[in-house]
Amino acid sequence: MTDLLVALNTRPLLCDGAMGTQLMDCGLGSGDCGMLWNTLHSNRVRGIHQFYAEAGCNLLTTNTFGGTSYALDRHGLADHVLKLNRAGAQVAREAIGKSGWVLGDVGPFGDFMEPLGQTSADELCAMFREQIAALAEGGVDAILIETMSDPAEMEVAIAASKQAASLPIIGTYAFQKSGETGFRTMMGAPVKEAIERAIAAGADIVGTNCGVELSFGDYLELARQIVSAAGKTPVILQPNAGSPQLVNGEIIYNATPEEMAALTADLLDAGVRIVGGCCGTNPGHLAAMSRRIG
Ligand SMILES: [Zn+2]
Repeated sequence: MTDLLVALNTRPLLCDGAMGTQLMDCGLGSGDCGMLWNTLHSNRVRGIHQFYAEAGCNLLTTNTFGGTSYALDRHGLADHVLKLNRAGAQVAREAIGKSGWVLGDVGPFGDFMEPLGQTSADELCAMFREQIAALAEGGVDAILIETMSDPAEMEVAIAASKQAASLPIIGTYAFQKSGETGFRTMMGAPVKEAIERAIAAGADIVGTNCGVELSFGDYLELARQIVSAAGKTPVILQPNAGSPQLVNGEIIYNATPEEMAALTADLLDAGVRIVGGCCGTNPGHLAAMSRRIG
């Protein structure tokens, strides 16, 4: 398998789409621990990965978003970090083999760092290091640190990744609109600061995933700002399937595959090198996006 960063120099790549909603479609109850399925129902997790691989995705994201001991502790699984992260990596690898890259997924630990919260940077670094070492042991090709809103937490996670493994690091934030043309993370960090701090900490690829009520026009403008802030560092964009609508008390993302494909073309034109999907995206969206990437 070519090194991810080398491959990116020659062509844009397609990442996969949402995992959580796909797990729920397969029977995961809300409030249940989806990561437990990496061992309990690995065939179902593998099946979702395979749908994305068949849709043309080059990069599969492991089902390990809440995989720190801190996040797993909410399900009483704090001592299952190694087992569940390693299994998550192995299941994704089985689905794509050597024909694509597996990204070890690392989400926010789920609380505030000191001084707002009780967790010190050193404690947090140790938790991320434990998770990332397990993902590396399971055979991932890169680490994806995603949905971050605090650049300080991003910096800790990147440092932990460098200590735990020598793998490429992708760092993405979730942004919301702030004013007419500005975007900030939920912790208030503007695009330029957030992206520059991730790169300075050692991220090899930077960008955004998810987002709060962003339109397709917003994602495109956000992409331009990130590409500008990132300089020579490649950019990844993983938008939601449109802006969420509340229908009968349920949150619905209703962008069509064709609309996601059109956005993909615009994002590539704006200089984005990896496109994928976040909330509400499914293999149907990704197949249409794959045809557009070519
Ligand atoms: Zn999302």
